[in-house]
Amino acid sequence: MIDNFNLNKDKFRYTLKMSDGEKAVVKVKGVSFGDGNVKFIAGPCAVESREKIFKLAELVKNAGADMLRGGAFKPRTSPYDFQGIGEKGLEYLAEAGKTFGLPTVSEITDKGMLPEFTDIDILQIGAKNMQNFELLKAVGRTDKPVLLKRGFSNTIEELLLSAEYILSEGNQNVILCERGIRTFEKATRNTFDVSAICLLKQISRLPVIADPSHATGKRQLVLPVSLAAAAVGVDGIMTEVHDDPARALCDGEQAITPSEFKELTIKAKEIAKAIR
Ligand code: PEP
Ligand code: MN
Repeated sequence: MIDNFNLNKDKFRYTLKMSDGEKAVVKVKGVSFGDGNVKFIAGPCAVESREKIFKLAELVKNAGADMLRGGAFKPRTSPYDFQGIGEKGLEYLAEAGKTFGLPTVSEITDKGMLPEFTDIDILQIGAKNMQNFELLKAVGRTDKPVLLKRGFSNTIEELLLSAEYILSEGNQNVILCERGIRTFEKATRNTFDVSAICLLKQISRLPVIADPSHATGKRQLVLPVSLAAAAVGVDGIMTEVHDDPARALCDGEQAITPSEFKELTIKAKEIAKAIR
């Protein structure tokens, strides 16, 4: 058992801290996750059009973003909801990122899609695919950084074991993401598990980021929950940002505006500095 956390050490080979205590730093172009500073990933839930992603890329860049996010393939609960604009979305995201000097991240839902993600800098494995083991093994055979989100009904041990699938195939560049878990609570979309971040930071070598947008589902909670994550030493914060949240094609109720995002980056950096 690792201390008293109920985790069986024998199950892990790569993701736990080694005896030297050294942490992994995941570098994405010029952005390093796990270097002791908090990094910001921002952008819409989904890439909606070329024009929109260019506009948002510029806005989030000016507000302090280090990376640009945007889903092109959206795994939605309902088949009748907006599913993303697909391959074109990846193309527009990569173009916008290059134009404004922001590395990009987008969700991959199937291993057959890997060739389409050539120009995307981080492969995101979404909560619903955290235990898609064939996908984990396939991204593990690439050298591209992976953002692995915790499934909404998965334990910390299961999250780390999914990361083991990737690392054991050769790819050591994995960033973990706490994005809320499902509980009995209905007032928020999920329940943000801040202790998971503390625990992961204590036992794992991998950088850990927070996604307060999916964790809460409520735009007025995104700032305070981000600050809570910064206060426990999170390595990055990924937020959904939209210039017109009421008209967003996906997850508008949890999107903050670029000016709210700017306030978030400033305050989160201050908190990260205060606890250093
Ligand atoms: C997302 O980040 O766009 C997303 C779908 O998140 P999750 O997989 O955490 O629900
Ligand atoms: Mn979303």
